[in-house]
Amino acid sequence: MFTKPTSAYVHIPFCTQICYYCDFSKVFIKNQPVDAYLQALLEEFRFYDIKKLRTLYIGGGTPTAISASQLDILLSGLQENLDLSALEEFTIEANPGDLTADKIAVLQNSAVNRVSLGVQTFDDKELKRIGRSHNEAQIYQTVSALKEAGFDNISIDLIYALPGQTMDQVKTNVKKALALDIPHLSLYSLILENHTVFMNKMRRGRLHLPNEDVESDMFTYIIDELEKHGFEHYEISNFTKPGYESQHNLVYWDNAEYYGLGAGASGYLDGIRYRNRGPIRHYLKAIAQDGHARLHEERLTKSEQMEEEIFLGLRKKSGISIRRFEEKFQENFQERYGQVVAELLAGGLLQIQGDQVRMTKRGLFLGDTVAEKFILF
Ligand code: SF4
Repeated sequence: MFTKPTSAYVHIPFCTQICYYCDFSKVFIKNQPVDAYLQALLEEFRFYDIKKLRTLYIGGGTPTAISASQLDILLSGLQENLDLSALEEFTIEANPGDLTADKIAVLQNSAVNRVSLGVQTFDDKELKRIGRSHNEAQIYQTVSALKEAGFDNISIDLIYALPGQTMDQVKTNVKKALALDIPHLSLYSLILENHTVFMNKMRRGRLHLPNEDVESDMFTYIIDELEKHGFEHYEISNFTKPGYESQHNLVYWDNAEYYGLGAGASGYLDGIRYRNRGPIRHYLKAIAQDGHARLHEERLTKSEQMEEEIFLGLRKKSGISIRRFEEKFQENFQERYGQVVAELLAGGLLQIQGDQVRMTKRGLFLGDTVAEKFILF
């Protein structure tokens, strides 16, 4: 008998722009069946009989690309049968400039208590170059409006190592992010994904990215500067003031199960990792027929579960608890991974503190490359 997950991810795949670096599951919102999509989402929510959640996260796409009344339908529908007293964190992603007064009013009337803004950079020219439609002024307006409406748990995403970006530009972005006086920041280095405008440019030799040394300097600068200002670097890309860690994302990094709802969304349920149908019409049809839209399902072997536990756990600065690992999998950690741990310790990429195996600063920069050693092992 499996216990039900206490976290859910809800995907809104619509965007009012298509950014040049983005490979998320999304479509341009114009002419899309948004109302039917929202109804299907709520039907899927009912199918899983979700009554009690600790964390709920609406991501995209751009959840705030839909209208205020559609947002209201979505939020009230999700909350209708939920025990709100158990809901600790309810996040919605938004783009600066999208959050008009009527949409903020809808958020205020809901249980949403955390907003994650896709800022990416404060530099207007750079924003244009990466295909974003907001500008610097809108970032400040949105953050002020949210604060005035009583939202203090605000996070922003920034991207560094953008094409042509200099260290000075990164410094300016960090300075401006700090000046927002918000408790959580996510900073991602640009990753070139297939089927994006940037990848096409790269193939044609028309994209100039900072080299790895510069990128490493940027990463080190970001960590040092944010730590100096009271942020804890609690996950490879995430920084928090005390008490504002993203509870929902910790569920992923703790390798716990969660519902994934919506077109193209991934979930982890009853030991099975699944992915929903992506194209919106296919998703709508599946929900109408079956109530769910799971397409790819993969039951993980114990070995795969252990690999995931390590891969995800090492993303956190606190790392993996050996005791928790052994209790969960009934395996001796040292016997199984002693050799690879010794190699990574010798290479200065891992450290052991008490019961915790964790990355060093250098290990965190290399991130997945280090974690992969446990998989190839
Ligand atoms: S980055 Fe966000 S806003 Fe831009 S296309 Fe991707 S999902 Fe849409």
